[in-house]
Amino acid sequence: MKKIFQYLSLVLVILFSENSSLTAQSQDFSCGQHIILSKLLKDSTFKRLYDQEQRISSNTQYSSGAQNKGVLYKIPVVFHIVHNNGVEKIDRSQVLDALAILNRDLRALRADTATVDSLFKPLIADIEVEFVLATKAPDGTCFSGVTMTQTPYSYNNGDINGSDQVDAVMMYNDVFQGNWPGNEYLNVFVCGSVGTGIAGYTYYPSSFFGNTMNNGIWLRHDYCGSIGTGNPSGSKTFVHEVGHWLNLPHTWGSTNEPGLASNCSSDDGVADTPNTIGSQWCNYNETTCGSVANIENHMEYSPCRKMFTLGQKARMRTAVTSSLGGRSNLITAANHLATGIDTTAPFCKADFFANRYITCSGDSLYFQDYSYHNPISWSWDFSGANPAVSNLENLYTTYPSPGVFDVSLTSSGDSINFLTELKNDAVIVMDYNGEQLPFYEGFETINFNSPEWISNIGNWSVTDEVSYNGSYCLKVQNSGVAEGTKHVLESKTFDLSDSTKAYFNFKYAFARKNSTNNDYLKVLASNDCGKTWSVRKILQYSQLITAPDQNNFLPSFGDWREATITSLIGPFCVQNFRFKFEFESGGGNDLYIDNINISYENTTAINTSYNNEVSIFPNPANNNLTVSSSKIISELAVYDIMGKQVLSNKKVNSNTVNINTSKLSKGYYSVSLKQGQEILTKSFMKN
Ligand SMILES: [Zn+2]
Repeated sequence: MKKIFQYLSLVLVILFSENSSLTAQSQDFSCGQHIILSKLLKDSTFKRLYDQEQRISSNTQYSSGAQNKGVLYKIPVVFHIVHNNGVEKIDRSQVLDALAILNRDLRALRADTATVDSLFKPLIADIEVEFVLATKAPDGTCFSGVTMTQTPYSYNNGDINGSDQVDAVMMYNDVFQGNWPGNEYLNVFVCGSVGTGIAGYTYYPSSFFGNTMNNGIWLRHDYCGSIGTGNPSGSKTFVHEVGHWLNLPHTWGSTNEPGLASNCSSDDGVADTPNTIGSQWCNYNETTCGSVANIENHMEYSPCRKMFTLGQKARMRTAVTSSLGGRSNLITAANHLATGIDTTAPFCKADFFANRYITCSGDSLYFQDYSYHNPISWSWDFSGANPAVSNLENLYTTYPSPGVFDVSLTSSGDSINFLTELKNDAVIVMDYNGEQLPFYEGFETINFNSPEWISNIGNWSVTDEVSYNGSYCLKVQNSGVAEGTKHVLESKTFDLSDSTKAYFNFKYAFARKNSTNNDYLKVLASNDCGKTWSVRKILQYSQLITAPDQNNFLPSFGDWREATITSLIGPFCVQNFRFKFEFESGGGNDLYIDNINISYENTTAINTSYNNEVSIFPNPANNNLTVSSSKIISELAVYDIMGKQVLSNKKVNSNTVNINTSKLSKGYYSVSLKQGQEILTKSFMKN
């Protein structure tokens, strides 16, 4: 299957994007269609089929039969959101926006249609084709028209390989696992990446694809719709790809790229699009091939593209009514019935989503109805929030106090039959006034549950397999996990507002299995309770590796290293600071983390060999603890696990300190030593 698909993928029709910026302009597009197509045409089997199919479609395109006007053809569409829990996990409103833009443009209803060059105004065509969200899955299940698949294959960087994304959707989507036949649905795959620099791609109708899902359209998430991660300019990509999917070449025909004088000798097989070299910008006097070019055509690359012509309409409708690539089956009454677009879809599910699920006390969350289909009444229940109940469709509600709260929505399509969706522990509200510094976490006695720690994504746990000191540390079970898998651990809130600079450090240990592994760890910080995050440190390659390549890595003491984040300054020193670790699997061993420190004092200038010269015993301690160092200790303080100072001695000035620990309750503590300008933290257990 994979090999076959890789072969097929050479008939791609690709729209490249120059960069990943959300404001990428369409004049940056370039297309690899002909390069790829010409490669494939060297294969005699493909060439025979391609020539045959292209001959058929060009012979029939000018037929003036009933299919060419007056009948609105409806095509069921399903959007598969292929995400890896990042920004590419777009929400339903962005999907609906993309679909509305597509239908608006196909029906020639753009507001700027009136501005089309007067030369081409008479040619503006309403294609009389609309795409409608399917409401039935292949097994008849009522669904929203959108499926969700979480997979590292969301990001297809490098050469195009849509087969991994199709396979992931078939195996793991949340609605129906299996084939969504390409002659029953237009399958749209919205992904993190669809090949380096590529905005979208698809195929001309071809019997090569049979009824597989490969007969679909791939879009990078930020070229899907004009809202959310999308933008108005990028939203034209979907329209352009549907043009290809309905057998339209670029206006300049089959050459490598627009703008070449040699393009005057090739054509797009459409009579009313003037011969042109193709444009990447809006030159309204483009006449290189003799006549004025229709640079506003959707099958151009110019940013001002906005219309299809009557000739293109004939070609597209011929494609829709042809059995080639299974297109004609899409518009049959039987298929409309099977995919649920024949009638007003039934109300079958109550559901909702929020703009965020983690917030701080006093903040508001925006809840949106996601019930389908056609709900007319809503009854919300927000425990712990204000308002606590509501009958609005969408609303803001405010959480005054910290806690973990359920949310439920009861909705109805007829106000007679009701369905309820209850999400337990859906909302985590952190204290707006975070925990005071210093913060020290050795994972000895912690509650590894929200809201203390949030680790819904990936394989984080507390382990006793190994530790830097004490008995426990943090672990990412990474060995054997698919490359690209993300593991996210979020903290609670901390109050950093007492200073303009804070120090953050932690111990970690990691080994690759071999030199091809590319795992990395990011540390991110938020100064607004997690609404926005910025990367503060990336440990990658040699920075992440603390031991030689090996299998089944379990760190010994010398395999631990310290990471320091020195950039928690100014804007990050707020009452509701939070941090998170984001580890991405790259084929290596498990990752271990221990002894997270956040403090106003620099405890980081101590190297490991120096650490080793300080001893602390007995550990665990009973009534006495001895701290011994080769260097003079000037001051000493002991903190409990909440970071509260429980003992201190400001005038030590000795190499050895005996601490009376008899009055300390059982638990985990850290002892902080000041030696000259340096501060060192060690931890111990009191029995
Ligand atoms: Zn194209």
